[in-house]
Amino acid sequence: MSYAVKECFLTLQGEGVQSGARAVFLRFAGCNLWSGREQDRATAQCNFCDTDFAGTDGEGGGKFASAEELTAHVEAIWGHGRDRRLVVITGGEPMLQLDEALVDALHGCGFRVAVETNGTLPAVGGLDWICVSPKAGTEIVQRQGDELKLVWPQAGIDPTELEGWGFDHFLVQPMDCAEREQALDAAVKLAMDRPKWRLTLQAHKVVGLP
Ligand code: SF4
Repeated sequence: MSYAVKECFLTLQGEGVQSGARAVFLRFAGCNLWSGREQDRATAQCNFCDTDFAGTDGEGGGKFASAEELTAHVEAIWGHGRDRRLVVITGGEPMLQLDEALVDALHGCGFRVAVETNGTLPAVGGLDWICVSPKAGTEIVQRQGDELKLVWPQAGIDPTELEGWGFDHFLVQPMDCAEREQALDAAVKLAMDRPKWRLTLQAHKVVGLP
């Protein structure tokens, strides 16, 4: 198995329960809900994406021939020590490429392996942290994990229908869009109205990290 990686870099996790943790972000190229081309955005299944996941030309990106080769790359980016090694695998949609061979290789180097997925594909086995971010109008097959992160507001999603899914944490994150203030108000309102939901903000953007 080879892997196409858009970018791979060291940062602080900015979202969700693990916000603030040092992590290598491994962003796979490609998504099953949008091509990544602006001309396709209006007709895409997911049309509010704030991420460039097309190609392999980002910082630390490239094509990797094996799980071992990609793991060595992640390890080099982590840089020092084996304590609390964390890799967050995202995209695009990571489940298009992530397999057990890569999870095993990363575990072998002492990494905890977290994923951020749109939930339309089943998660591979052996993961340490599963974050699902559902998109309106899609069929979510991954309905259990550690954290459900709802980008809000999204027409076509009723948060009360998600509350029975098998997650430990239910997070609402204001959509990063032109109507930022209204999105923040809507996210705050959801967390205030329904205590199952906790507000999460994109802390990495506040502190100027990628
Ligand atoms: S599912 Fe995620 S990566 Fe894919 S287009 Fe939507 S926000 Fe972007």
